[in-house]
Amino acid sequence: MGSTESRLWCVVPAAGRGIRFGGEIPKQYLELRGRPLLLQTLERLASHPRIAGIVVAIAADDRHWPGLTQCGGKPVVAAIGGSSRSESVLAGLRALPDSVAIDAFVLVHDAARPCIGNEDISRLIVLGSAAGGALLAAPLRDTLKRADDHRRVAATEAREHRWRALTPQLFRRGELTVALQAVLDAGIGATDESMAMEHAGHRPLLVEGAETNIKVTTPADLQLAEFFLANEIGTGSQEPQETAVKMSTP
Ligand code: C5P
Repeated sequence: MGSTESRLWCVVPAAGRGIRFGGEIPKQYLELRGRPLLLQTLERLASHPRIAGIVVAIAADDRHWPGLTQCGGKPVVAAIGGSSRSESVLAGLRALPDSVAIDAFVLVHDAARPCIGNEDISRLIVLGSAAGGALLAAPLRDTLKRADDHRRVAATEAREHRWRALTPQLFRRGELTVALQAVLDAGIGATDESMAMEHAGHRPLLVEGAETNIKVTTPADLQLAEFFLANEIGTGSQEPQETAVKMSTP
């Protein structure tokens, strides 16, 4: 078992086309506070002391990738992603340095979530490594409706015990590789890594994360992300709480 102070690599799938956003530029390269969204996500991850390095899975024909080899003093490796998220993450896992052991934990984080906070990453690493695998998630707060084909309400679903899956997600390199290969072989379109792990029989821990860790999917999300980052809301970029407490203690 790895020590709680060991450093982890992070895989960032960024090979999506961002079709839902529309337009020419893939959404991970849209400008956020004057710089590409993907770079901001990488900088936030690299700023965490427990992150050792980052593998970014990019599309084979990506013309926007700036060819980064490091970020915030941490190594950055580019891998060619695939036609599904699972394939891209798998390519990222295969591109990890050999020094990352098969049973080492790795983080997987969406390129389109630039508002990830350091405190959430820390909590996920501590609780997730103890649990053998975990994901950040947010409990459902709205009432959930199931629609019929005519967009009429067919049913109201219970919201208790329902969570929205966020990223990062934390799993062991080897177990996640096997799980992703299995969903791909079975033709299952896994929308997150946890889904692949669940399919392989694992029961990942849900670690409550900040609601501000949004996935930028619409133009309105881009504005919201700008607001969160500009005002440092939920992003945990300031000094950790303990430091502030220590300093105010007489
Ligand atoms: O499509 P969705 O928003 O769920 O994508 C989540 C993440 O997966 C994004 O960061 C996207 O770039 C990435 N992705 C990928 N390869 C694909 C499809 C999506 O790396 N083929």
